[in-house]
Amino acid sequence: MVRFIGAAKMKACRHIVTAVLAVAFAAATSSAALAALPKKPAVATAAKAKKIAKIARHKARPIVAPSLASLQRVTAAPTCDRTSFRLLIDVGHTLEAAGAVSARGMNEYQFNLTLARELDDVLHKRGFENTAVMITEGRTRPGLGARVARINKIAPDLLLSIHHDSVPDNLLQTFQYDDKTRNFSDKFAGHSIFVSAANPHYASSVLFARTMGNEMTARGLHYTPHYIEKIMGSRQRELIDAEAGVYRYDALLVLKNTRVPSVLLEAGSIINRGEEWKLRQAQYRAPITAAIADAVDLYCRFKPPSETAIAAKGPMPRVVINDVTKVKVAHKGGKGKIRLAARGNKKPAKLARHP
Ligand SMILES: [Zn+2]
Repeated sequence: MVRFIGAAKMKACRHIVTAVLAVAFAAATSSAALAALPKKPAVATAAKAKKIAKIARHKARPIVAPSLASLQRVTAAPTCDRTSFRLLIDVGHTLEAAGAVSARGMNEYQFNLTLARELDDVLHKRGFENTAVMITEGRTRPGLGARVARINKIAPDLLLSIHHDSVPDNLLQTFQYDDKTRNFSDKFAGHSIFVSAANPHYASSVLFARTMGNEMTARGLHYTPHYIEKIMGSRQRELIDAEAGVYRYDALLVLKNTRVPSVLLEAGSIINRGEEWKLRQAQYRAPITAAIADAVDLYCRFKPPSETAIAAKGPMPRVVINDVTKVKVAHKGGKGKIRLAARGNKKPAKLARHP
């Protein structure tokens, strides 16, 4: 909280309005979210009642994240300086180590890349010129280190890592699709958002995570509460915001070792047959990217980019290729080698510059 107010004061110059706006913002975002929420159906089963009671218990726990009251004391700029705000969208996993496999056999990496590029497009259309997609190449372990190192070197105002969810192996069932036996689990559906309390910018990370969660809820998207379930074993997490769907995942490298506000989004469950099918449709992804873009805009008003950030750190490239052995950055207008994974290809294909 102290860091929050201090940082805001440093930027309290011509664009700053009073805390009244901040209070109005908080009220507006939450009321908009509530207004758009579909009416809750009556509790149909005892199991569901138990689940709701469990969420309520988590809600009642002391929240380690900054409270809304503390956020309301942060001043906000009336608008976001979109050209200066530096957002880095991290595409989860790599082509070589592609993460989860969907119910119909598509790699998580392809889902992550598609959503990241669409989000990047939406933001650029809105004037966020310094938004970049980061694609990491190579195997998982060195890939993680290279990912974190590159993020810290670029030092964006905000990092958003895009992923898609699966379930632990013991929950998997099988079905036939395309003459092949595939794994699936229709048990859970919905997105989830993660932050790490070990991140030096935890409060800012939570601010963005909450804002994004509320914006997604406002568009009728639902988060999955299953990470609080015992069945998740070592993947069980603490739910720190039961309305926005924000969990704490302190040990996650891309959140813990980065020195910038960092949030990870599991955009949905691709092992769930129904949700996977929806996530493959552009019209279903559109409200997701719109919600994230709105959240970036709101966050940027609370945590405006430093006026000297661009001069100090340089403009963001459109695409960052993070090769484990040969790290390259493709600059806007430059001749850097850009390799994007073509959908469905096993090997990265050389494509034209990211549109
Ligand atoms: Zn993942």
